Amino acid sequence: MRATVLYGPRDIRFEDREDPKIEKPTDAILRLAATCVCGSDLWPYRGIQKIAQPTPMGHEYCGVVEEVGSAVKTVKPGQFVIGSFCISDNTCPNCRSGYQSGCQNLEFMSRAQAPVLRVPLADGTLVGTPDKPSDQIISSLLAVSDVFGTGWFAADAANVKPGATAVVVGDGAVGLLGVLSAKLMGAERIIIMSRHEKRQRLAKEFGATDIVTERGEEGVARIKDLTNGIGADSVLECVGTEESMVQAIQSTRPGGSVGYVGVPHGMKLDVWPIFFKLVHLHGGPAPVRRYLPELIKLVWDGKAEPGKVFDLVLPLEQVAEGYRAMDERRAIKTLLQP
Ligand SMILES: [Zn+2]
Ligand SMILES: [Zn+2]
Repeated sequence: MRATVLYGPRDIRFEDREDPKIEKPTDAILRLAATCVCGSDLWPYRGIQKIAQPTPMGHEYCGVVEEVGSAVKTVKPGQFVIGSFCISDNTCPNCRSGYQSGCQNLEFMSRAQAPVLRVPLADGTLVGTPDKPSDQIISSLLAVSDVFGTGWFAADAANVKPGATAVVVGDGAVGLLGVLSAKLMGAERIIIMSRHEKRQRLAKEFGATDIVTERGEEGVARIKDLTNGIGADSVLECVGTEESMVQAIQSTRPGGSVGYVGVPHGMKLDVWPIFFKLVHLHGGPAPVRRYLPELIKLVWDGKAEPGKVFDLVLPLEQVAEGYRAMDERRAIKTLLQP
């Protein structure tokens, strides 16, 4: 098969690689229906996160099981499945408490920007759909694999409750799906911080009620204006820079919660100002596995269409253009069709 490999800054190649095969009895092999480029793929793509050798890319996936190892019990060949970017056994104490992204046997998926994929710990990682999905919902099912699951975790970690005021920092695919998640969890007011017109439109479609274009201290001042000087109940940090994290914490009311899912880069936090803010901080790599059944159901029942974040669809072999379009912010998120 041919698959995606990153060689160095902005050097994505689609090249011959060995077909994946069952290596352990707990593995499954999937024929992917769709895969995509993640905002987090741009860190190594831009050379900000160094790679030591050519690295196979991709961690968001859904597709049909082709083959399973002898120990796999819950998924069968022919079944359509979705998995998280975190490989987990779903049986250890951390998984049982709902933190599969802290699994004692955790691995991070890579190699998913390919037509065929090996998934370790298939029983713990994969969840099947009720039936064969229609082509129209494939993009939304793919979004569950990471961006929707991560946006959902941001909202959950930020303790969004019915009637709450939520602020979303970041207008990437995760931030936009954080808006959708907050809406589905019953937030009454959802403020997104965004300067990008196309993304603002999609945020409104997903349920945003207000848009703040200011950043930093000015942005915080606008949030205070919109919340009677108090700050928001729930703030979703979906960027991962120090500026966005400080903005999130400063926008939260005393006793409110920040859910942070932006992968931190160059972030140093001064605890002194946070101490006096009295905020809850919870975040990290999303335990998407916990939410898979619920989010698959929302998509299946037509109650959520997170696939709308894919505004560029390309054949997998044009993956390099998919990265370029996101790097240059021409696309929010690129879906790749094997
Ligand atoms: Zn991702
Ligand atoms: Zn586990």
